[in-house]
Amino acid sequence: MSVLVTGGAGYIGSHTCVELINAGVDVVIVDNFCNCKKSSINRIRALVNKDFTYYECDIRDKKGLDSIFKKEKIDSVIHFAGLKAVDESVYKPLEYFDNNVNGTLVLLDVMRNNGCKKIVFSSSATVYGMNNISPLTEDMQVGGVTNPYGRTKFMIECILQDLYVSDNSWSICLLRYFNPIGAHKSGTMGEDPNGIPNNLMPYITQVAIGKREYLNVWGDDYDTPDGTGVRDYIHVVDLALGHVKAVQKIEAGSGLYIYNLGTGKGYSVLDVVKAFEKASGVKIPYKIGPRRAGDIATCYSDPGKAYRELGWKAERDIEEMCEDSWRWQSQNPNGYPD
Ligand code: NAD
Ligand code: UDP
Repeated sequence: MSVLVTGGAGYIGSHTCVELINAGVDVVIVDNFCNCKKSSINRIRALVNKDFTYYECDIRDKKGLDSIFKKEKIDSVIHFAGLKAVDESVYKPLEYFDNNVNGTLVLLDVMRNNGCKKIVFSSSATVYGMNNISPLTEDMQVGGVTNPYGRTKFMIECILQDLYVSDNSWSICLLRYFNPIGAHKSGTMGEDPNGIPNNLMPYITQVAIGKREYLNVWGDDYDTPDGTGVRDYIHVVDLALGHVKAVQKIEAGSGLYIYNLGTGKGYSVLDVVKAFEKASGVKIPYKIGPRRAGDIATCYSDPGKAYRELGWKAERDIEEMCEDSWRWQSQNPNGYPD
């Protein structure tokens, strides 16, 4: 089986490529390297015993993408490529809609023209919006999204569902990720954000190595056990293994499938700080700040459907997530080399 992985050099994509190759799948990576370093490709290579091909190509480059499909024998696609910073999307909406939505349209058109009709898409728990009560299940209404990034995910889900209605020989899997953290056990691959991290775990690890003075905790007056926001953190390797199962599912026959990829457990910001301090032995100073616009109190999954239909469940606990995040950050204080 040969899988084209868009955005395969990024955080989740690189971990997924390692697990796909370990599972005997042939991988072809397409990435324009707008949010990752090329050295991540070498790190993937060093962890697997099999060579693979990568192309530097923007998914909006129809001709370039078409020539890759003509050259490689692609059975299915896992589509990670996209811009993902919520706050940036608020002031660059056109760039986000162009990259994420238009990029997906180009990809789908090229796939159809080349007779490839199997795709796994990186969606997000953000599509559940502000009003659903956790644990979130796949049949809940989606949509009430509060920012352009989230809207791109919702719009792409709609596009893929309409595509399936128009032609049910497609096989489409929408994976709604909760909060991926952690890193490969080797300490050689992990999350490497540009600039000041928006997400909790990379901010904590940068405080731990002394790059940032303290963590801002965005609000302690939520209706949660300690007042701070509760999320469903999932180890990136568990998430990667979920993609291996998803690709096997779409290979098995046509259909439209939607799965949450989460652990089903919620941890508050202060729970994560404590777990990280325990795993690393490093104290994380923090200050309580105001709530962050658009945040909700609690968001965690019901991961049961993925277990029932894919036989997948997350195995790694919060301690392991923290240990692995810390190993990556402490061994690579400046992230991937240029
Ligand atoms: P990432 O930025 O590390 O990876 C995305 C990759 O796509 C990068 O390597 C980037 O260079 C590439 N890319 C972006 N636009 C491209 C384009 N037009 N053409 C070719 N390559 C392009 O992000 P990630 O955390 O690995 O996320 C992967 C996917 O999962 C994204 O679609 C993201 O929205 C989604 N997702 C991520 C999270 C999260 O918390 N990390 C949560 C939910 C969903
Ligand atoms: N958070 C925080 N300080 C930070 C980053 C995040 O207190 O510097 C909180 C945020 O308010 C939320 C949780 O940590 O309750 C997870 O935020 P993140 O941005 O990692 O993921 P989200 O669930 O918002 O996508």
